Amino acid sequence: MKDLAGEPFNSVRPHISIAKPSRLASKTTRTHRSVGSLLEGKDFEPFVEELSASFVRVHVADIGGEIDRWIREIVLGLNLDRGALAQIDAKSGKLVVRHSWSRDHIFKLPIGLELARPAPWFNRLLMSGRTLAFSKVSELPPEFFDNDWKTYRRYLPKSNVTVPIRIGAEVVGAVGFGAVRKERTWSPRLVRRLELVGQIFGNALERRRAVEENTLLRHELGHVSRTAVMGELMASLTHQLNQPIAAIMMNAEEIQNMLDSAQPDLGHIRAAVGDIIQDDLRATETIKGLRSFFRKSEAAKTPLNLRDVVVEVMRTVRSDALFRHVSLTFEAPGARMLVAGDRIQLQHAILNLVLNAFDAVSEGEGPREVSINIGVDKDQITAAVRDSGNGIDPAMIAQIFEPFFTTKPKGMGMGLAIARSIIKAHGGQLSARRNRDRGSTFEIRLPALQEKI
Ligand code: ADP
Repeated sequence: MKDLAGEPFNSVRPHISIAKPSRLASKTTRTHRSVGSLLEGKDFEPFVEELSASFVRVHVADIGGEIDRWIREIVLGLNLDRGALAQIDAKSGKLVVRHSWSRDHIFKLPIGLELARPAPWFNRLLMSGRTLAFSKVSELPPEFFDNDWKTYRRYLPKSNVTVPIRIGAEVVGAVGFGAVRKERTWSPRLVRRLELVGQIFGNALERRRAVEENTLLRHELGHVSRTAVMGELMASLTHQLNQPIAAIMMNAEEIQNMLDSAQPDLGHIRAAVGDIIQDDLRATETIKGLRSFFRKSEAAKTPLNLRDVVVEVMRTVRSDALFRHVSLTFEAPGARMLVAGDRIQLQHAILNLVLNAFDAVSEGEGPREVSINIGVDKDQITAAVRDSGNGIDPAMIAQIFEPFFTTKPKGMGMGLAIARSIIKAHGGQLSARRNRDRGSTFEIRLPALQEKI
C-alpha cells in the first residue's frame, strides 16, 4: 500500500500562476488519450486551466453534470474503468457516493452508497484527509477488509487511487479512480495531480453550496446580499487560484528534474524558485482580499494602477478567449492610472464585464471581438469593455443591473448587479450603452487618485 499523504504535494502550498496560453483550450475537440497524456505528461497546466475554466463557465445548476463529465473523461483518458465522487452528507456526516461513472459492463458504485458500509477503515482514512493509492489488492492492509466482504467484494477494483476533497482544511468528500479489468501502477506525480483535480472539484462544489444557500435567502433580498456575492466571487476566485496551483506544481516538478540531472543548472533552479515565490505571494493576496471582503462591508482601499488590475483580468480570461475564439485586445496609455480600490473586488467587477462580453459575442454569427480600454477623463479614470455582440435591447437597459435579471438560459443575473455595487462602493459609476455600429460598451468610471509628488 502506498499512503501518499506525506509525499511532496502536501508540503506544496497552493499558489496563483501566470497562465500560459492553453494549447488545450484552442482545440474544439479532445480525445480521451489527450486527457490521459495531459494528466500524466508535461502539459498538465493547460489541463488544469481547462478543467477549472469549465467550472467557471458552467451555471451552478450544471456543476454536477460537469463533474460527471470530467470523471468520465479522466477514467477514459487514463484507460481506467470507473470513477466516483463521494461527499459528506450534511445530516449523517458520512461519506456518500454522489457521482459515479463506469465503463459498460463494469460494476458501478451505486449513488447513495455510504462508503463506511463496505469499507469503514478506508472511510476513516479519507475523512482524515489522506490519499490512498494501491496497485494491487494485496497492498491493502488487513484493516481494509474489516467488514462483511462477502457482500461488498464486487466493489473492489484491482488498482485504485482515492484522493480527499478539501475546502480549506476541512475534508468534504473524496474522489476515486479505479482499474477493474487489470492492475496498474500510480506514479507519485499522477497521484499529486489527481489530488489537485480533487481540489478543483471541491471548489466547484463549494461554489454550488454557496449559491444554493443564497437561493434560500433570495426572497429576503432587497439589495445584493453578501452570500450572493460570495457565490459569484467564488467562481472567479477559484479559477484564479487553480491556475497558480498548477503552475507551482510544474515549477516544483521542473526543479525536481533539474536536481536529478548530473549538473543541475542553479540559475534555472533559482528562476523557478523565484516563480514559485511570486505565485505564492499573489495567491496569498487573493485570499487576503477575499477575507477582507467578507469581514468588512467597506472595500479595503489602497492605491492601485487600474492598468495592473486589467492586466490581471486579461491573464485570467486568456484561456477562455482562446477556447471561445474571441479576439481580446487591451489598450491603455502609458501613464499610471491610479485609483483607490480593492484589487480583488475591482478585478471581479471587470471580469464580470469581460465574461458577459464573451457571452455576447458568442451568441451571434458576427465577429468575436472584445476590447478593454483604459483612459483618463478629467478627474476620473475610465475602463470600457466593448464587444461586437448583438447589443443590449434598449428596452432592457434599465433592468440589466437588477439582481437576478438575466436573458441567458443558464444565467444567474448577478454579475452586473455585483459589478455595479462594487463600483459604487468605490465612489464610481458603471453604465452600459449600445454601440453605434454593433455590440455594447460597459464603462466604469472611478475617481482618479492624485499622485503626491
Ligand atoms: P448573467 O450574465 O448571469 O445573465 P448579468 O447580471 O451579468 O447576469 O447580466 C444580466 C443581463 O444583461 C444578461 O443576461 C444580458 O441580457 C445583459 N448583458 C450583460 N452584458 C451584456 C453584453 N455585453 N451585451 C449584451 N447584453 C448584455
